[in-house]
Amino acid sequence: MITDSNVEPLYAEPLAEALRERGAEAECLAFSAGEGAKTRETVADLQDRLIDRGYGRDAWVVAVGGGVVGDVAGFVAATLFRGIPYIQVPTTLLAMVDSSVGGKTGVDTPAGKNLVGAFLQPRRVLVDVEVLSSLPDEEIAAGMAEVIKYGVIIDADLFESLEGDLLGAMLAGSDAAISGIVARCCELKATVVAADETDVGYRQILNFGHTVGHAIEAVQAYGVRHGEAVAIGMVIEARLASRKVGAPSDLAARIASLCVRAGLPTELPPGCSVDAIVRAAFHDKKVRGGKIRCALPNQLGAMAAPNGDYGIPVEAEELVTVLQS
Ligand code: NAD
Repeated sequence: MITDSNVEPLYAEPLAEALRERGAEAECLAFSAGEGAKTRETVADLQDRLIDRGYGRDAWVVAVGGGVVGDVAGFVAATLFRGIPYIQVPTTLLAMVDSSVGGKTGVDTPAGKNLVGAFLQPRRVLVDVEVLSSLPDEEIAAGMAEVIKYGVIIDADLFESLEGDLLGAMLAGSDAAISGIVARCCELKATVVAADETDVGYRQILNFGHTVGHAIEAVQAYGVRHGEAVAIGMVIEARLASRKVGAPSDLAARIASLCVRAGLPTELPPGCSVDAIVRAAFHDKKVRGGKIRCALPNQLGAMAAPNGDYGIPVEAEELVTVLQS
């Protein structure tokens, strides 16, 4: 089991113990919690530890933790011995609704987010929403950013339900609301990924809010939560969407209002300059032909694809304008 220092005592070690009681050989390898550990160094260290312990191609990796653990453990599984199977056991809301499904694995580099990685589908994704009881409120909020994103990009009903009673019920800890949201989001993500597993077309709709979001994370040296950066990114990119692809002019305000209710930021963090964001956006994986690209909604629940392309080129000046507004 690959896990982090917070999740190891809470869930990974008890899970390993339960497996050992049932006759499996299972042990936990943990690394320091947080995005700062999502690096090539962490992956190399885990690979060396697995090799030193004598594991071979018959080993399975079980990722027990949030999105950082899932991305790192998945990348270890994708590369060790040219690939061994892995299972995702997500323990944050963000990992349950998003990162555990879809097979994107990888790490950050000093130049940007997720720049080194591989596609490898997990053999199973096992979700037990009870583990959310120990998750801090800010981490629940971070996960809600991705839930709101699904509403914008593909499921207007979900967005409107959140605007109604669903967000309140979710934040109040209603089991039915939480399970319903997690199941719906997994279903939506799986549908998108099944249509475009390697992210050459339709899957790019999942990047809404992420061009600016990833730039914020890089500028803040990963000191801001991924979900928080995505929330700010969605509001800024929705403004771009109104200018470029005819999204309703109130879309950015509706997204911002839901984000605020969920406990998420919607404005650039202090010290995060517009210039630095634009520079960082040029390091994004989606840059093509020297142009920043964004996935943009043209209405609530639908994404624009002029000429069939979901990665819409954005001039640096256009990004500056919406960032300044
Ligand atoms: P995270 O993995 O850092 O977890 C957040 C914090 O919660 C950590 O401190 C962790 O130790 C702690 N934690 C986890 N589960 C807990 C629990 N049940 N109780 C108490 N504490 C718990 O962050 P995250 O928000 O889960 O994931 C963010 C990462 O996911 C980013 O690196 C992002 O790039 C990645 N991501 C990947 C994909 C993908 O498709 N692969 C999609 C979205 C995001």
